[in-house]
Amino acid sequence: MELWATEDQTPSLRFSCKITETLKVEQTDFQHLAVVNTEQFGKMLLLDGMVMTTESDEFVYHEMITNIALNSHPSPRKVLIIGGGDGGTLREAVRHPLVDTAVLVEIDEKVINASKEFFPELSFSFNNPKAQVVVADGIKYVQLRKKEFDIIIVDSTEPVGPAVELFSADFYRDCFSALNDEGMLVVQSESPFFNAGVIQMAFGGVSQIFALTKLYLASVPTYPSGLWSFTIGSKKYDPAIPLNKNQGGLKYYNADVHQAAFKLPGFVENIIARK
Ligand code: SAM
Repeated sequence: MELWATEDQTPSLRFSCKITETLKVEQTDFQHLAVVNTEQFGKMLLLDGMVMTTESDEFVYHEMITNIALNSHPSPRKVLIIGGGDGGTLREAVRHPLVDTAVLVEIDEKVINASKEFFPELSFSFNNPKAQVVVADGIKYVQLRKKEFDIIIVDSTEPVGPAVELFSADFYRDCFSALNDEGMLVVQSESPFFNAGVIQMAFGGVSQIFALTKLYLASVPTYPSGLWSFTIGSKKYDPAIPLNKNQGGLKYYNADVHQAAFKLPGFVENIIARK
């Protein structure tokens, strides 16, 4: 009998992957968690039936949600990651030569444990001397921080469950206050093909608060539509300009991809212009 993992990407579109092994299934205090081994993408983490990360394409998302801000800010010393319990974004942050400290605030410890058990290529970053791991609600965490971070990265799930408020203007305002005067905020903002409303919520909210707000794109095969967006708000520096050009040795990110990611097709320009 064949087993398939299926995500409903839209009410009328399903994405199915053939499973070779079911490794873990549990209901946590916050969400349904599953780890499966798939024939096409290797090990895959799903939360509430949605693909969070896979062995074969995680590098795209993790390199792009992290290195755009880290390479367009002259001194990204202290980084805060909200969510990101799989450890991939933390891995990219602690790998960066200019980063001294990376604090990860994840609400669901079961996600961290599942990553330690099944995704060593992501979770080894939890033991890095630059890393601090906090199990807490990121929304409450930023409310208590003032001018403390250079970069804040929101590596959240879709706006469901504990992540709904992570797409709110109030949360973005608290992030603004938690950043120092040259700070940058990056949030994953979903698919231009299927989630225009989420992009408008994120881009609209961030651009109300930050002097400079831009959207950039990357292709993540296992995410809905395969085209993913990130919204970046900056207090001072232009995030589309890579200052640190020698961030080599990555599989997706480089200085040319950095600049190209901000060159948006017309239909995406229309989404953020609300046309
Ligand atoms: N890359 C994935 C995506 O784009 O869908 C996200 C990966 S990461 C596993 C998302 C994490 O955000 C989950 O582990 C979830 O528990 C966490 N999360 C959701 N709401 C949160 C909150 N309010 N505070 C901290 N972490 C939160």
